Amino acid sequence: SAENGNDPVVVIGLGRFGSSLALELMRRGTEVLAIDHRPKVVQSLAGELTHVVTADATDLEALRQLGVAEFGRAVVAIGSDLEASILATSLLVELEVTDIWAKAVSRQHGRILERIGAKHIVLPEHDMGERVAHLVSGRMLDYMEIDSNFALVKTRPPHEYVGVALGETRLRRKHGVTIVCVKTQGSEFTYADATTVLQYGDIIVVAGPVDRVERFAELP
Ligand code: ADP
Repeated sequence: SAENGNDPVVVIGLGRFGSSLALELMRRGTEVLAIDHRPKVVQSLAGELTHVVTADATDLEALRQLGVAEFGRAVVAIGSDLEASILATSLLVELEVTDIWAKAVSRQHGRILERIGAKHIVLPEHDMGERVAHLVSGRMLDYMEIDSNFALVKTRPPHEYVGVALGETRLRRKHGVTIVCVKTQGSEFTYADATTVLQYGDIIVVAGPVDRVERFAELP
């Protein structure tokens, strides 16, 4: 959240997911303590990450000594080793790290991590698969589900909405969606309002319930 956006973060597991995450946090100015039990992995990241250590995250004493209990936030980025993922998460709970994010390889795995006390579950493969399905099957340029049934879609304006002020189109009543912003070729995104007139070649961002934005994006 915004209040603790810059508090330090412990990242456990430096595979593809964990290392990308740790590097991006650092780039954004967040202090990171990165942990992996494979010395080779730690060595290879030592030049890029400021605090990266070899330790077994299923060892409570090791985590204590690293000062993990002082952190308010942690990400468990261990995927395939379920036992380690579950144990590391439960140790973070024991150390009273309040904001725990955990990567899961399946919904069931995610449910277990949630029960143990992880606050946020991330299913990268699963979520990306779903997202790509929306892109592959439609004309969308980008798709992001921001809540269980609410999405933002980047797409092209359908013919019937080109050349008319949006205020005159009854778009929201007819399709249950809102055009949030527009990008005309060669310029930046700007907010759309009732006076906005879309042109061919524009890119728009549409917000609304999943089925409604999907149907809207299918309009010719
Ligand atoms: P990815 O798909 O992101 O590469 P993996 O599950 O393959 O994810 O990688 C997880 C990382 O977590 C690996 O680098 C592995 O060495 C590390 N890891 C696994 N178990 C532990 C543990 N008990 N303590 C610390 N790191 C661990």
